[in-house]
Amino acid sequence: PEKPTSEVAELAEGLVGGQRRALARAITLIESVKPSHRKDALELLSRVRQETGDNSKQALRIGLSGTPGVGKSTFIESFGMMLVNKGLRVAVLAVDPSSARSGGSILGDKTRMSLLSRAPNAFIRPSPSSNTLGGVARRTREAVTLCEAAGYDVILIETVGVGQSETMVAGVSDIFLLLMAPAGGDELQGVKRGIMEIADIIVVNKADGDLKQAATRTCADYAGALRLLRKRARDPDGFPKAMLASALEEEGIADVWEEIETLANWRKESGVWDKARASQAADWFQQEVEAGLLAQLTESETIRNLMQNYRSNVSDGTVSPSVAAENLLKALKTTG
Ligand code: GDP
Repeated sequence: PEKPTSEVAELAEGLVGGQRRALARAITLIESVKPSHRKDALELLSRVRQETGDNSKQALRIGLSGTPGVGKSTFIESFGMMLVNKGLRVAVLAVDPSSARSGGSILGDKTRMSLLSRAPNAFIRPSPSSNTLGGVARRTREAVTLCEAAGYDVILIETVGVGQSETMVAGVSDIFLLLMAPAGGDELQGVKRGIMEIADIIVVNKADGDLKQAATRTCADYAGALRLLRKRARDPDGFPKAMLASALEEEGIADVWEEIETLANWRKESGVWDKARASQAADWFQQEVEAGLLAQLTESETIRNLMQNYRSNVSDGTVSPSVAAENLLKALKTTG
């Protein structure tokens, strides 16, 4: 008699077979913090790993950031539909570590991408409701891996332009887009230097109607600012670049895709792509180890109590902080 296949094996099979429902269930599994689910999640990740060997099989992972209202969902809808119409399979993941959801619409909300959400070759997954930045990072890395194993050609990872989420998204992306709105005056909008260094393409959206002139000026300003940055060894001439688009009128969208393809192909041929993926994998490992070590500090009650005691000893000056830390780490070793 045949050995019954495990639930996880079945899930992996459905996922690799391209079933959207299996992918959705798999992401729910990796989002769970229950220890038994975690065990299954790790088995699942191992099972689907071999699906994405060399870079010809890998998905193109595109990070996309921009402040609320800049047009991210409108852009994803037009851009995603264009790709789907080319016969590509598109996954959209939202990353929203802020609990300040009330400030804007929910990222990855399907009602904001009504055509794409109904397209058979698209998969849209909103951000889970609440999570820590570390939890969000893990969930994103793993969800990206699952979408890739499920055979999606393009994975769009959407985030709001706040805090550390951009850096985190850049850490799982091959190419990073920054969406900007036309500036009202002639001042360059307050773009943090860090984000300019992450962005491969700055897309000045809403280049239509009354906003077209302002958008053109803004785009020229960004192009100028980008030229001042040191040219990156990982880029061909002309990158990073600033471009105009209208997500609403679907203008410039195809040009953005063309530039993305140019950059991706260049990086694949020059070896930059593989190197970046390798270092992302190494970073992922490092972060999991660090997160795991930190978790050990809070998981054991003994350690938690000990930590509490040392903290008050240190505060009232009875123990040196260095000595207390050393003792605590020793205790962690013997408990773990
Ligand atoms: P998000 O919060 O970044 O996802 O922004 P949305 O996609 O929800 O867009 C915010 C508002 O800007 C909506 O009213 C859109 O219709 C509008 N919008 C988005 N893209 C464009 C565009 O290319 N041109 C114009 N004129 N409006 C746009």
